[in-house]
Formats: sequence, structure tokens, C-alpha cells
Amino acid sequence: SRLKEGLTKTRDNIVHGIDCVFNGFSSIDDEFYEELEEILIMGDIGVNATGDILERLQKQVKENHLKEPSECKSFLIESIKEQMKVEETAYDFEHEQSIVMVIGVNGVGKTTSVGKLAGLLKAQGRKVLIAAADTYRAAACEQLTEWANRAGVDIIAGAQGADPSSVVFDAVSAAKARHTDVLICDTAGRLHNKRNLMEELKKMNRIIDREFPDAHRENLIVLDGTTGQNALNQAREFGETAKLTGIILTKMDGTSKGGIAVAIQSELNIPVKYIGVGEKLDDLQKFDSEQFVNALFD
Ligand code: GDP
Repeated sequence: SRLKEGLTKTRDNIVHGIDCVFNGFSSIDDEFYEELEEILIMGDIGVNATGDILERLQKQVKENHLKEPSECKSFLIESIKEQMKVEETAYDFEHEQSIVMVIGVNGVGKTTSVGKLAGLLKAQGRKVLIAAADTYRAAACEQLTEWANRAGVDIIAGAQGADPSSVVFDAVSAAKARHTDVLICDTAGRLHNKRNLMEELKKMNRIIDREFPDAHRENLIVLDGTTGQNALNQAREFGETAKLTGIILTKMDGTSKGGIAVAIQSELNIPVKYIGVGEKLDDLQKFDSEQFVNALFD
């Protein structure tokens, strides 16, 4: 499948490594667990999540009196799935008018993800509008306009340097007038002025609260799957300003450490809702933990 293909590097690294351990050991001993631990941690699953996963595995091994490594592989897979469980937040683009704020620092793939998400929802028959509320980077608006064209959706943009909140205001008005199903707002991500950035996000959220209180809301943070622990820190910081309802995890095709998806869901307890597995319009996939782990180990 496309997902499996997009995860090739991670499969070649983590899953291959795990297989080597399972094939290389004839008994389940400390060394076996240590080798597994190293592979999981190196694959960005994180120390805490790895500890939990292996603890669960050890318990299963004891309870089921397993002797051979090959007998416990399915338990490892189940344990990883268990680790990824998050409290699902309400999530429904199908039946409601929705406003999606897409946030994150520059370079993570925010603009690209807005375009891809627009394309995905449009393909599902939704009427989509994009707001280009990153008014700081001249190129951002141009780039987003290209994505809107590619996706075949409308875009509301402000002049460079315009107040991002005024763009959001205009976009919300347009979404109401045009009976848009999903309004997707791209936002600025410059880190050197963090305070302003966070204030700006709050202001945009206030405007939406006021102008369209009935809309279903999503605050999706875009995280670059290749940046490991940094991604977790970014989510924590933005989480202080906006209630994050989900994550778009990008560049998963470009990393051999796709275990970051496990670390993110386990550490943040926020669901990854989409993953990016390439640079093209249809390279965004709806994320499902079960499917993800199956695609890795199939
Ligand atoms: P922004 O600064 O956060 O808006 O980032 P952009 O959307 O401009 O993306 C930065 C770079 O990452 C671009 O070259 C994108 O093509 C690339 N990119 C974004 N998502 C993905 C992905 O899922 N896979 C790959 N391989 N590249 C991606």
C-alpha cells in the first residue's frame, strides 16, 4: 500500500532491526530485551514509551510461559499498538462546518500540509476554503495559492504584512457566506518572535470564537517527523497557547525513525490525525495507529 511504501525507511531500519533480534536470539533473555530496547529507542520511540512497551511484553512472556523469541513477536506488536492509544477527541469533518487552524514552526511542512489537506477533503466532496494567514513570508502566500489551485479550492489572502487576524476575519465571513464545509487557516510559524506569534494565535482564535461560535474547531499542529524530540517540544509549547486537537506528522517518508509517531501519541496524548509521506498533493494520509503499526510489520 501507499502507506507501507511511504514508511519504507522506517521498515528498513526499525522493523528490520527488530526482525534481526528475533532471528538472532534463541532464548528470551536480558540481552534480547536490551537489543530490542536499543532498536526502539534509536527509532525515536522514546525512552518512556520503549520502557512501557517492553514491560508489557515481559509480562506477557511470563504469563504465557513463552520460551522462543519468535513466540513473542505478536505480543510486541500488540504492545506498540497499546502504547499508541489516545483519548480520541471529537473529530468530524463530515457533518459540520469546521474551521481548522494549522499551526507549527516554519519549515515543518505547514503550507504543504494545508494544500494536501484541502485536496483530501475536496476529494471527499467537501467544500473547502483556505485562508492564507501567514502574512509575513512573501513566498508563503504564493506557495499556498499554488496549492489551492492544485487542490481546486478557493483561497482568501491578505496583503503581505497585513494583520493575520484580519485575513482570518475575512475568511470566516466568506466561509459563512459561501456555506463552506471546511475552512483551513494557514498561520505564521516564525520562531524568533515567539511571544507575538502566540498572541497572534490567541487573537485569531478569539475572532473565530466570536464570528463563528457554532463551527466545529480543530487546532492541528504540524510536526516534522524527522526532528525527533524537537517535535515533542514544539507541540508542548504551542499547546500552552491553543488546545491542540490533533497532529499532522510530516516527512514520514524521509525518516528511518518513524517510531516518533509512537512517542508523540504516547507522550502528548494527542492523536496524530494525518501523516505526510511525500511532497505531492495526494501524499497526505489519514492516520490510524492500528493501520500504521500493521503497515510497519506486515
Ligand atoms: P512550512 O514552512 O512549514 O510551510 O513548510 P513547507 O510546506 O514549505 O514545506 C517545507 C518542505 O518540506 C518543502 O520542500 C516540502 O515539499 C517538504 N515537505 C512537506 N511535507 C512533506 C512530506 O510529507 N514528505 C516530504 N518528503 N517532504 C515534505
